[in-house]
Amino acid sequence: MSRRITVQKFGGSSVANTDRINNVAERIISYLKKGEEIVVVVSAMGDTTDELIELAKKINPHPLEREIDMLISTGEQISSALLAMALHKRGYEAISFTGLQVGIITDGSHTRAKIIKINTRRIREELKKGKIVIVAGFQGVNRKKDITTLGRGGSDLTAIALAYALDAKICEIYTDVNGIYTADPRIVPEAKKLKSITYDEILEMASLGAQVMQARSIEVAKKFNVPIHVRSSFSNEEGTMIVSKTKRLEEAVITGVTLSKNEAKITIRDVPDRPGIAAKIFGKISDEGINVDMIVQNVSKIGTTDLSFTIANSDLSKAIKLAREVSKDINAGEVSADEDIARVSVVGVGMRTYPGIAAGVFKALAEKKINIEMISTSDISISCIVKKNLGEEAVRIIHKKFKLHKINS
Ligand code: ASP
Ligand code: MG
Repeated sequence: MSRRITVQKFGGSSVANTDRINNVAERIISYLKKGEEIVVVVSAMGDTTDELIELAKKINPHPLEREIDMLISTGEQISSALLAMALHKRGYEAISFTGLQVGIITDGSHTRAKIIKINTRRIREELKKGKIVIVAGFQGVNRKKDITTLGRGGSDLTAIALAYALDAKICEIYTDVNGIYTADPRIVPEAKKLKSITYDEILEMASLGAQVMQARSIEVAKKFNVPIHVRSSFSNEEGTMIVSKTKRLEEAVITGVTLSKNEAKITIRDVPDRPGIAAKIFGKISDEGINVDMIVQNVSKIGTTDLSFTIANSDLSKAIKLAREVSKDINAGEVSADEDIARVSVVGVGMRTYPGIAAGVFKALAEKKINIEMISTSDISISCIVKKNLGEEAVRIIHKKFKLHKINS
């Protein structure tokens, strides 16, 4: 019987300096002793990618995306080569590769390329020779062999795509936390680590601002049912499994509470209440690539309404300029912005079958006199906008209300 492969991905914080790279080498060796075949995927050291992008902008504020890819793909080459050297020093055979060398072929959309196929022949050859294969994450090549990158956080995608292509038994994502918790333990000290979570839940959490893994990579994992184990590179503790179905008891309706403080609200007053106006406003905003999250339109009394919507804080100045332009165009009133907001969200697949979760969330907030400014829901989440300084308290209250510290994870 052929031995099964494990793919291990180490994120930027796990390879941030030489000590940590040595630590990663030791960990890989401890696995090898158990008779495993290992393919390692690494991110760039620490904040290297951000630093490289900054460097580019100093030279040219509008660099070509092809050249951006040439530049930022180097970060992962540095960490993969250094990790190979760390393993050699310890007497182990290892070999590092770029995306091109291991046949990661993508489409041509630089800085956000999609993987089209992976030719795993070279990796399999090297594994057969007993080597530890190390792959630079985040990169591939297009048909012309120009280097492409897979979007920020793309090393996760490299790891998951390789795990699928190699039919690996598991894809381990090593990071600086012990797994996925019912809430951020810095906000809720009694938050509980989940033994498992579903692809759908983690996708929802990622889109609600939890920075666990690249959302695209989870979509791929879900599509091909690649089991993921999120765990810490600094401890041996078991982390959290991401799977299609958890074994959790039915009463665990909610699995997590998340908080995002990176939102802003824009309000346009006295918007004419007639067909086509919303299309005009949001059409213009989405044309500029700005994502609108929640939208609230008040009831019209005298033929005009107030319209509020939320966006990422980083898009605020651009969005406000657009909103002012449209407001003038459509004869609406004043445009104002509010950055003093936070979004609190609860996530759980159990919500699909249990009614009354929303009411429970609202009641918990009402009991503590926390005002809800906006609400939005999906089939597995409920989000409320509250004042920024009340965001953390809101998370704690909801966590307590639903007894998440007692979750049968
Ligand atoms: N180094 C890349 C980034 O920072 C890819 C990754 O870390 O996964 O986005
Ligand atoms: Mg990174």
